[in-house]
Amino acid sequence: MEIIHVSAECYPVAKAGGLGDVVGALPKYQCKAGHYAKVVMPMYETKFLHNNEFVVDYKGSTSMAGMPLNYTIIKERTNKLGFDLYLVDIKGLLDRPNIYSYSDDTERFVAFQIAVIDWMNQWGHLPDVVHCHDHHTALIPFMMQYCYAYKDKLAKVPTVLTIHNAQYQGWIGWEKKHYLPAYDEWKGGLLEWGKSINSLASGVKCAWKVTTVSWSYLEELRWSSNGLEKLFEYERGKCVGILNGIDNEVWNPKDDSYLSNHFTSRTVANGKQRNKLELCEQFGLDVRKPLIVFIGRLVGEKAADILPDSIMASIYAMQGSVSFLILGSGDPHVEWQLSNLNDSFPGYYHAVIGYNEALSHKMYAGADFLLMPSRVEPCGLNQMYAMRYGTVPMVRSTGGLQDTVKDMGEWEGFGIRFNNASVGDIHYSVSRAVAVYADTKHMLWMRRYMMNIDHSWESAIDNYMNVYRSMK
Ligand code: ADP
Repeated sequence: MEIIHVSAECYPVAKAGGLGDVVGALPKYQCKAGHYAKVVMPMYETKFLHNNEFVVDYKGSTSMAGMPLNYTIIKERTNKLGFDLYLVDIKGLLDRPNIYSYSDDTERFVAFQIAVIDWMNQWGHLPDVVHCHDHHTALIPFMMQYCYAYKDKLAKVPTVLTIHNAQYQGWIGWEKKHYLPAYDEWKGGLLEWGKSINSLASGVKCAWKVTTVSWSYLEELRWSSNGLEKLFEYERGKCVGILNGIDNEVWNPKDDSYLSNHFTSRTVANGKQRNKLELCEQFGLDVRKPLIVFIGRLVGEKAADILPDSIMASIYAMQGSVSFLILGSGDPHVEWQLSNLNDSFPGYYHAVIGYNEALSHKMYAGADFLLMPSRVEPCGLNQMYAMRYGTVPMVRSTGGLQDTVKDMGEWEGFGIRFNNASVGDIHYSVSRAVAVYADTKHMLWMRRYMMNIDHSWESAIDNYMNVYRSMK
């Protein structure tokens, strides 16, 4: 099958979160399984762009909002990612250092989507599936079916929309409807939700199939999806939950290039201790105490706002018998609060504000526990990386966290689960972590057990292929 993935992120080209990890791995494993998967994404000004060789594949020109839209499709020359990677270069719009957060993001991502389908429209053949990811690409199913310039050729190509996060929906005021290529006005309702154009809602309505990244998240969307609840209820027949896998080649403590101390489940006790020692020395923490880490975006969804109070309460209540290390960026106020604690609790706590891929790997490897109190967690990859590196996940029972972590109080349980994103629940979980840490035999058993759980992409690939085949 020929599958074209369209996405705003793809690791290692450009990543802001889990979307990047998934789009960097899913096509690779689809190709390994004998399919022809490719990725098309915006050409940002990233390190990857400058450190790799590209060839021009196509130069096109169309229009957006009555203005010329010239674009160039370049292709990575060596297939080094395990799939064909195409970047869309639109001068002045996409060629910037960051992925998101520009005031003209609407124009940027609408232009990107138009360029992608305009390019596909020139192909001498049609792909078997166009697979869109999140709201930045969710107008594509509508455009393929109802825009006059494309529908004759592309309306018959099956489309899939995968929702990695339904909180962000790509709202566009109706005054900008002329950004879209001319479309059949009778179908305008397929763009709308809540009185504006809603890219994600349009994708849910128009894609042939919709997938979400865990089973529990699919259920949750019907009662909590930032305004789209009724839509998910109505469209439930075409929605499927498929749990993400992790890329075992990138995330492997046995040969992770970011680590200086490699380990397997057999050598986990020693291996983790050496990684922990390095981390603790770097951040002035006591290696003898249990080390709890948090890695992620500092936003409300991740319950980052309650981290400062939870950490202070836990350090006081546990009388300093635990250490915390935080890596993240996001809400400036939370960043400020977390950095301020560096001075209050030296030796017990450290926060690194920013995005640091290398440090994140070191933290998965060196930590004893990984805290994820998320209010919303569609799948969550961090907990799976943690398990792969023998780090006990401490998670709130929601979405994919609920589907992947079993509490240590249950039969063959290996993690710590709690119900509320609250200081009280986190504090109680920290006390459970400190207690189990003292039981070295139990810790070793949990570490080995988790490291041997299979979170590979292979079974998820079969589920995606079944979705694709169901549209034939
Ligand atoms: P989300 O996509 O909602 O942010 P996921 O758990 O699906 O959450 O994926 C998060 C990914 O981003 C993981 O690979 C995690 O290690 C990485 N990540 C998040 N914040 C940082 C950071 N500050 N530095 C390095 N990696 C980060």
